[in-house]
Amino acid sequence: AQPVLAVVGRPNVGKSTLVNRILGRREAVVQDVPGVTRDRVAYDAFWAGRRFTLVDTGGWEPDATGLQASVATQAEMAMQTADAVLLVVDATVGATATDEAVARVLRRSKKPVLLAANKVDDDRLLADTASLWSLGLGEPYPVSALHGRSSGDLLDAIMAAL
Ligand code: GDP
Ligand code: MG
Repeated sequence: AQPVLAVVGRPNVGKSTLVNRILGRREAVVQDVPGVTRDRVAYDAFWAGRRFTLVDTGGWEPDATGLQASVATQAEMAMQTADAVLLVVDATVGATATDEAVARVLRRSKKPVLLAANKVDDDRLLADTASLWSLGLGEPYPVSALHGRSSGDLLDAIMAAL
């Protein structure tokens, strides 16, 4: 089976936009992957001549346990089912308490975890991304899912991890 990358993070950080950017098309083929529900959509992706499965964990909404707990639960699930996990944070907001809670869960992962600092639409935001090292997940990759900025560097890092 091809390797699986799960994309996790708070609502509205741009996970689905980044997934579409990686897929390079708006309409994507939904894969028949066991365990994938309405909230976790798997797509067939390609980069650098390799196939992988991209799981968009969109649809996370705060449940009765609150946003922090529900996102942390999704991160646990991603760690169990994926070969690598991509945490997306909003660089214009910085690391929130929820981001820190998810990072804490992901730091326990034995699988590779990558960190995307999204919404870096222009260079003035680059300096802010350095603060995201504090999440303890290594280098934050600045990207703009909306404009396609630097997503190639992130993808190269993802393929090296998968
Ligand atoms: P998700 O809930 O994490 O899947 O986030 P979405 O992909 O649905 O995006 C949430 C909002 O952020 C949308 O209005 C997007 O257009 C916007 N967005 C996503 N990526 C970027 C980006 O790189 N720059 C900016 N400025 N907005 C973005
Ligand atoms: Mg989404």
